[in-house]
Amino acid sequence: MPNTDAVDPTTTDSSTTESSTTESSTAATHPFQADVRQILELVTHSLYSDREIFLRELVSNASDALDRARFESLSDNSLRTASPPDGQEPGIRITVDRDARTITVEDDGIGLTAEEAEKNLGTIAHSGTRAFRELLAAQKEASEAGHPAEGLIGQFGVGFYAAFMVADRVMVDSLSARPGTTPIHWESTGGEGYELRPGDREVRGTRVTLHLRDDADEFLDVDRLKAIVRRYSDYVPWPVYVEGERANQDTALWRRDPKDVDDNDYKELYKHLSGDWQDPLAWVHARVEGTINFDAVLFVPRSRPWTMDRLDFKPALRLYQKRVKVLDSAEELLPRYLRWVTGVVDSPDLELNVSREMLQKTPAQRTIKKQLTKRVLDRLKELSVEDAEAYARFWEQLGHILKEGIHEVSIEGNAKDKDRLIPLLRFRTTRSHDAEDIVDRWRSLAQVKADMAEGQDAIWYLADVDKERIAHSPLLERFKKKGWEVLLLDDPVDEWVTMNLTEYEGVPLKSVAHGELEETEEESDPIAEEARKQARPLVDWMEMLLGEEVAGVRLSSRLVESPSVLVNQEGAMSANLERILKAANQDVPTTKRVLEINPEHPMVQTLARLQGEGKEGLEPFARLLLDHARISEGRLDDPEGFAARLQALMEKAANAL
Ligand code: ADP
Repeated sequence: MPNTDAVDPTTTDSSTTESSTTESSTAATHPFQADVRQILELVTHSLYSDREIFLRELVSNASDALDRARFESLSDNSLRTASPPDGQEPGIRITVDRDARTITVEDDGIGLTAEEAEKNLGTIAHSGTRAFRELLAAQKEASEAGHPAEGLIGQFGVGFYAAFMVADRVMVDSLSARPGTTPIHWESTGGEGYELRPGDREVRGTRVTLHLRDDADEFLDVDRLKAIVRRYSDYVPWPVYVEGERANQDTALWRRDPKDVDDNDYKELYKHLSGDWQDPLAWVHARVEGTINFDAVLFVPRSRPWTMDRLDFKPALRLYQKRVKVLDSAEELLPRYLRWVTGVVDSPDLELNVSREMLQKTPAQRTIKKQLTKRVLDRLKELSVEDAEAYARFWEQLGHILKEGIHEVSIEGNAKDKDRLIPLLRFRTTRSHDAEDIVDRWRSLAQVKADMAEGQDAIWYLADVDKERIAHSPLLERFKKKGWEVLLLDDPVDEWVTMNLTEYEGVPLKSVAHGELEETEEESDPIAEEARKQARPLVDWMEMLLGEEVAGVRLSSRLVESPSVLVNQEGAMSANLERILKAANQDVPTTKRVLEINPEHPMVQTLARLQGEGKEGLEPFARLLLDHARISEGRLDDPEGFAARLQALMEKAANAL
């Protein structure tokens, strides 16, 4: 079992550092990068059931190479032109030689220079690495659980190296479309390395020849190959010929009537576009004709695309124009909060800017963006109704990004999309945060509103990015006692959500950490009233004492068990937001907060009595109430002062024993 952690640093980069053979006339042997050797080891020595996917991987690469050539030739007329056989369009040709036991997959695409062959066919492009690590992890898990790894490999795209699942020798003959380049021949038996030497291909494109392993006879069957192409590569927007006969549909998937596309074709298109090995969670197929025309297929992934962690992340939304792929990342066609959507948009009506890297902001661009946004949001709504569990999983993966939308659409004044987004929001609450079941864990505002208690005047929330502490905050004590559900907002982006979402269907959304809470009638009994009266002089005295540090001191109606808590003034920036902004290196002034003390807490009552009797030396006790409030928030601005106070009090207590 190869171990990913034990990649030998001395061999990892050897294939890229030894790049001196670029245009040399003799064959040179190059070692594979360590990661590649591990993949090959898996691919060649494991049992698997769906090794037919090798063809999907090769056809997918060929299709990309054709896309690139066509796009680049739009702006560069010095590229070599495609020269397919007579009577055929440029495309992908698969042929079989039963005697030689070979299959070839040939394309009229961009081709590979020697440098490119070395870089791309000896190392793992970043897209592959992650899938590879997942594959290793999954394999390890399967073998530890006593299952054979059969079937696993087939689920993952290992790209070009999948060829070695069926071949014991792979040869690549290529001529780059770029002028001045020379043909190359690359070959490998899949062991430690590969050979690279000048080749003899005369026309632009790449031919991959697989010499089949003894156990791979089945792939010499032409009908079998046609069936595999139809199964995995039907979406490919280029003709795929098997032994001269076209095997895939001649209309790109997104330009077909959705009735004529089966689910499997959508899934394969998704895998091709995203590099994800899992099936998509959902998709939308839109075909719009009118003043603006476009066809689009958009996918909702099952998990958060790992590429989103990269600084140079770009959404995988491809744009085609009259069959030509013009952009890999048409980010102007979807709002930022949908950047995890993968898909294809094909429209003749969009204009690109001069450098062809960006879409012009035109009415067509705005119309298409509006339409796509609506369709994705409507699809998510549908999913949430049809399959609450799938939607909850989606929410756990991507909800924090979708939520950004509330702020984005509010800035734009886009009320329609805001209305579409609000029902999609899910929250953990005091009622749901311990739920085992994922569906129970995530509550919609509609549910929270429907379950409001009698007398409850608002949907209450607590925002605190500390996921551990949030559910135990003293600020929740009274709400828990009354059985009022409180939304627990532990994501930084939630502060921006609540700023832009001040009510839900007529019910205000309010922070439990802000302002003074009113007491309801049933809460104010004579004993509580008496306690409040007793504590009032203490409040005045503490305000004098702590006036520098807090905005005020008052009696609390939020506390049940705790003696004290800090709250934000009505309308002021919350301590949570202040912390988020500071963590993001923003210069924010510290706002003073109000210290609330619990008149029914024995410690407060004792202090009130002693203070009323005129006892000396009570300052450390009063200060400890402030310390306590800070500690329960998980932060102490003045730990030395606190330690000194605590020590003084401990001495007093010990002396009194
Ligand atoms: P991926 O396609 O995920 O990047 P692969 O291992 O399948 O990984 O391919 C590695 C790279 O090799 C491709 O990104 C591409 O640059 C190059 N390549 C593979 N096949 C072809 C081809 N038929 N024509 C041109 N380049 C190719």
